[in-house]
Amino acid sequence: MKNPYWISYPGRSENLTGYADPKVKSNNHPNNGNKNILEFIDQKKGYKGKVVSFASWDAVGRVINRERNGLLVNIPGENIAGHNLSEGEKLSNEIQHYEPKIWGSGERLDATTYALAKSYMRARHPKVVYLDLADTDEYGHSDQYDFYLDATRNIDAMISSLWSYLQEDPFYKDNTVLMVMPDHGRGVGDQWTSHGASIPHADETWLIAMGPHVKPLGEIKSAGQIYHDQFAKTMVKLLGFDFTSENQIGETIDSLLK
Ligand SMILES: [Zn+2]
Repeated sequence: MKNPYWISYPGRSENLTGYADPKVKSNNHPNNGNKNILEFIDQKKGYKGKVVSFASWDAVGRVINRERNGLLVNIPGENIAGHNLSEGEKLSNEIQHYEPKIWGSGERLDATTYALAKSYMRARHPKVVYLDLADTDEYGHSDQYDFYLDATRNIDAMISSLWSYLQEDPFYKDNTVLMVMPDHGRGVGDQWTSHGASIPHADETWLIAMGPHVKPLGEIKSAGQIYHDQFAKTMVKLLGFDFTSENQIGETIDSLLK
């Protein structure tokens, strides 16, 4: 990543704005002043109201700056609103209030965020979904390696199930790209629980991309360097648009596109 902080808000901001803003250095940062790709796409013809986010961490509302752009960013404790909710949406709304608040009211379990997002997708077919998960990070910080592995396995299964769903639903089938990215890395050895500028290797991350217009290259074996600030322009390019910003944003990852 380009940002030197290697923590959550700056990492998510870099992913979504294409810019490692030196001023975005804290998880308590207020509403993000930088333009993000979600609000950029929402302004495009045919996308208004079709760009939605579901997050396990309430700070994501500030990262995306929903107060500025009015996007749907569903954060912990918030129900899917509206009339004619599907059974899945109603049940997801209900159960989030029954789960244990393991990490306080600002977070909820990934399984709940996933249920809300998937039920919303089934019922309403948004064109862009940003799903923001957090269990692995929390179990890492609390030094619970067994739970950390479980969370990793479960997120992997959720992504698999989501991809299968995308191939079943004619709305999404063969025209949807799935991209998976972290907001930062973690330390190694004794420091695996933590991350941040003082933790070596916490800037080492990865990217998964699959779907139309993405080269099916498998696990990349060749040497090379890409940065998180390139993800934003790449994601927008996959939808056929050119993300522009007043910021100095990263270039598309051309090696990934076909
Ligand atoms: Zn963390």
